[in-house]
Amino acid sequence: MQCPVCGAEAEDLSSGEFDGLIVGCKRCGHFAVSDAALNDFLRLDFDQRVATLDRARKAAEPGSPPLVTVAALD
Ligand SMILES: [Zn+2]
Repeated sequence: MQCPVCGAEAEDLSSGEFDGLIVGCKRCGHFAVSDAALNDFLRLDFDQRVATLDRARKAAEPGSPPLVTVAALD
């Protein structure tokens, strides 16, 4: 799959337990984007996607991958 943040080749780690995309990217790391947020997330420009992921990373529980939700897009 293509990384939704940087566009590089990335691993699709999505599982049936999570409603959205789980990405393993060499550049961006391991993160998740909820299904509800995905379309709007992809419409952001590159800098905004990086900044949104950065915010999600800071908000993530230690040990869990950052999760981009609709709330994180504001
Ligand atoms: Zn990436």
